[in-house]
Amino acid sequence: MKTKFLLLCGAILFTHLELMAWGQKGHDIVSEIATRHLKCKVHKNIRKTLNGYSILYWSNWLDNASHTEAYAYTKTWHYKNIDAGETYENAQLESKGDIVGAIKMQIETLSNKTISQEQKATALKMLVHLMGDLHQPMHMGRRADRGGNQYTLTYFNRKANLHGIWDTAILEDGHKWSHTEWADEIDHANKKMVKEICQGTIDDWARETHALAKRIYSETSQQENLSYDYVAKWTPVIENQLLKGGLRLAYILNKLF
Ligand SMILES: [Zn+2]
Repeated sequence: MKTKFLLLCGAILFTHLELMAWGQKGHDIVSEIATRHLKCKVHKNIRKTLNGYSILYWSNWLDNASHTEAYAYTKTWHYKNIDAGETYENAQLESKGDIVGAIKMQIETLSNKTISQEQKATALKMLVHLMGDLHQPMHMGRRADRGGNQYTLTYFNRKANLHGIWDTAILEDGHKWSHTEWADEIDHANKKMVKEICQGTIDDWARETHALAKRIYSETSQQENLSYDYVAKWTPVIENQLLKGGLRLAYILNKLF
């Protein structure tokens, strides 16, 4: 009975890992850091747009929404896959759009002063989520293995895949912290660093994430049982990605609101 239950949990977990984003925790950390860097006026305007809620409240919303009929059109918006033989520039494009185009589209919508309050809220919720995904390296992974979803490996003696490991496993195994504790610990870049991180375009940031993805593929063995060393090596990298995501999201929102 117990074995059956564990197998079922494993199956559910594995299916869940086929999802499309940082887990809830990663998105919450990005939103929490962003919130801490919003100008006072921007903070107020955002609350007004979201009917009193914060961006944190909506950070993971799009992952659920993309599975509903109403938002099925956003299914491919969470990533941009680039195969081993392709470059960022010449990668085969998703016909229904990718993360880079989707982020640009939300920024454009939010820059338009004539949109309705509802359109504004939806674009904001999408932007908040997608800026998180933009910094999850496996969202710039290879098409051949569906962004690491089919890059199978062994992690702490369990069957796993590269995408899932980067969505949640390293994060959860790196520190047993709440999203606010994560933010407390990693959000301490000085002014000069913040400025450097926020330089560039959406494409520059996407290219940077893709370069990291390539490094991860080349430094992740499918033959070994990945465990403590892997977590120790990549946790600081994840911390840096979450910090960048949060700071860049705040930078964009401070301009738009
Ligand atoms: Zn997502």
